[in-house]
Amino acid sequence: MDKHACRACRGSGGYLVLDLGEQPACDYFPRCGDPGPDPVYPLQMWLCSSCGLAQLLADPTVPEEPRGAEPAALVAQAADAVERVSAAGWLPDQGVVTEYGSPHGGSWLELVTARGLLTSAPGGQADVIIDCFGLMHAADQHQALAERTARIAPGGVLLLQYHALSTIIGGGQWNALRHGHYAYYSTTALTAMLAAAGFSPRTAWQFDLYGGTVLLAATRAGDGPEGPDDAVRSLLAHDARVGVRDPDRFAGLQRDVDAHAKALHDWLAAQRSAGCRVLGYGAASRAVALLCQARADRGLLPAVVDASPAKQGLRMPGTDIPVADPGRLAADKPDAVVLFVPDLLAEVREAFPEVEAAGGRWVDAQALH
Ligand SMILES: [Zn+2]
Repeated sequence: MDKHACRACRGSGGYLVLDLGEQPACDYFPRCGDPGPDPVYPLQMWLCSSCGLAQLLADPTVPEEPRGAEPAALVAQAADAVERVSAAGWLPDQGVVTEYGSPHGGSWLELVTARGLLTSAPGGQADVIIDCFGLMHAADQHQALAERTARIAPGGVLLLQYHALSTIIGGGQWNALRHGHYAYYSTTALTAMLAAAGFSPRTAWQFDLYGGTVLLAATRAGDGPEGPDDAVRSLLAHDARVGVRDPDRFAGLQRDVDAHAKALHDWLAAQRSAGCRVLGYGAASRAVALLCQARADRGLLPAVVDASPAKQGLRMPGTDIPVADPGRLAADKPDAVVLFVPDLLAEVREAFPEVEAAGGRWVDAQALH
């Protein structure tokens, strides 16, 4: 393999901090009739020793995701975020906005244009650029950030939202690592990336989404008299305590892989031995990595229910477990439903009261280890 160059600073020094071995592409769901085996690819996280960006080492896969259902938690968080940004005075009453969205959905554009901002011409300048989980999908992080910052009009602001690396490390969220997601940002690393583009973080907001999500407001370094505010400084201090630049602090994450997979496998086996009916919920990338590591099959988990019509008739990559439609929850009357996306808990309890009405319970897959 050629020596890896950092996706942001091009530095070649760094550490392999998380290795999930050979994994199927988490966004290619084969048809149920496809017996496999599915092609597998190395899935590894690398930490740049120069700029501190945690990143996907290599990605030979081609993005091909059946469109997922947009979680209500994501929609609610977008409204909350726009409200808080506006209340803090970071959304002008008029001007031009553009968005670099995520292929998984979650646009803020309607929320912002409803407040009077106009959308920019394609490739044109904007007073506000919103990037909500978009930047992580760019293989070339330096180029992608440069493209965004170049479009910011004088006095404009870049709003960047990301699942915080400190959350991933602190919460044992090893299965956040997936093909197609090239960067895992700490506020520390993002500050360095922004500095290289002539930008500085000014303020930040935190959200519970995915266990800990950050929205950072950055401007050109010369714009505005002040540096980072207390909110940014507090995130940087938290990063330092967690050790987001210290490869040794990722060791726990690597240990969590086996512990988490074994806990899920043992729990599923115990449920089967006890004669309990179990289903999964949420055919997300996190579920793919976890089920593969746990060597789960349909003997242990008969189906993963998902609300997305695009995933029906397909199976979980790397396993023989089919994706089922939500009607299966009423039909099977499961004793337990393993939830692979904890943010969905409130939403699924409300949408599928039949689970608990029949005596079943929702079980957080993340909490099994
Ligand atoms: Zn770097």
